[in-house]
Amino acid sequence: MPSQLTGDTHRSASVPPPIPSFGEHWRGYVIAIATAAGAVAATHSLRNPVFPTPLFFASIVVSTWYGGVIPGVLAVALATVALDYFFIAPTGSLTLDKPELPYLLEFALPAFLTCWFVKKRQITEMALRRSRDEMETRVHERQAELARVSRIMTIGEVGVSVSHEVNQPLMAVVLHGDAGLRWLAAHPPNLNEVRKSLDRIIEEGTRAGEIVQRIRALSTKGSTKREPVSLNELAAEVAPLLEQNLIRCQATLKLDLAPALPAVTGDRVQLQQVIFNLSMNAIEAMAGSAATPRQLVLRTRRERHGLAVCTVEDTGPGLPPGEPEQLFAAFFTTRTDGVGIGLSISRTIIEAHGGRLWATDTGHGAVFQFELPIPQETLA
Ligand code: ADP
Repeated sequence: MPSQLTGDTHRSASVPPPIPSFGEHWRGYVIAIATAAGAVAATHSLRNPVFPTPLFFASIVVSTWYGGVIPGVLAVALATVALDYFFIAPTGSLTLDKPELPYLLEFALPAFLTCWFVKKRQITEMALRRSRDEMETRVHERQAELARVSRIMTIGEVGVSVSHEVNQPLMAVVLHGDAGLRWLAAHPPNLNEVRKSLDRIIEEGTRAGEIVQRIRALSTKGSTKREPVSLNELAAEVAPLLEQNLIRCQATLKLDLAPALPAVTGDRVQLQQVIFNLSMNAIEAMAGSAATPRQLVLRTRRERHGLAVCTVEDTGPGLPPGEPEQLFAAFFTTRTDGVGIGLSISRTIIEAHGGRLWATDTGHGAVFQFELPIPQETLA
């Protein structure tokens, strides 16, 4: 049955059935008899016994196409008998002993061939429709598969971003914990330093918790906070978080903050995360480069047109070859232990705040900067 051929009952309803069993020919027989009778009547009424065959060919084509081979053969037989009886002299008799008998054979042979061609044509058409249906099914399956993969990738991206963002404070917790233990093991134990380490552990733990909360809010389409945020304050808050990493790569930090920079509106934790990401990238870039001295500069400035700009500048190897834009594509990384998600998340955050984040090469390092609009009411 067509539905078995295509696996789709609805679509295959238009496909002519393959050779049916004898009992299923009744529709074909009716068509063969009706069209043959119609051909006789029409040819008679046209009074054109010179070319009586065209309508009989039409009857054969219709019977074969809609009924199958056997109704087609029946139509050939009916047409031959009708021609013999009605149109070949002497008319009104079915005897084959007529001088025009070769004409009858000339009709019967192409009539059978027509029947055969029509059936062949029909089979070819069915095969074409079937392969088109199969192709459509495969395209649908492919689309479904792609949708599934992209869903998995989205889930994966969220997972990667959670682990990327949370990994940094967790590493800091371990480092401060380690330092605290060493201060405790000293003779005599330096309780003041132990307290500082514990304070930093609490700070980093709290930050990790806030990051998880923010990412959860993002993934559940929850609203990000909208509050006045000072970029100068954020930069100053990020500085102590970078301390251990700066020491490790023997780099210094310079804060160059514009006085009286108006606040922007946004989510404090997310914006802090961006400055932290850019700073960590800068430190990692400098750590992998032989160039000295290593200096990280966090700068803020006010631009005309009501923009606040934050710049993260380093003295590392500069941007990798190619378009700077490629760095912001998810999963682009040149680091062996990189994930390539930090810059893409940072850009998403800045753009969600109505701002812009971009990178340039200074010739002796890299600069990553973002600008955010200062709200009208603050400007006035
Ligand atoms: P990851 O740090 O995991 O590689 P990112 O999205 O943070 O992912 O960074 C993508 C790439 O951008 C890095 O692999 C690196 O090639 C380049 N990059 C980022 N920051 C700097 C920088 N300060 N100097 C030079 N290249 C950088």
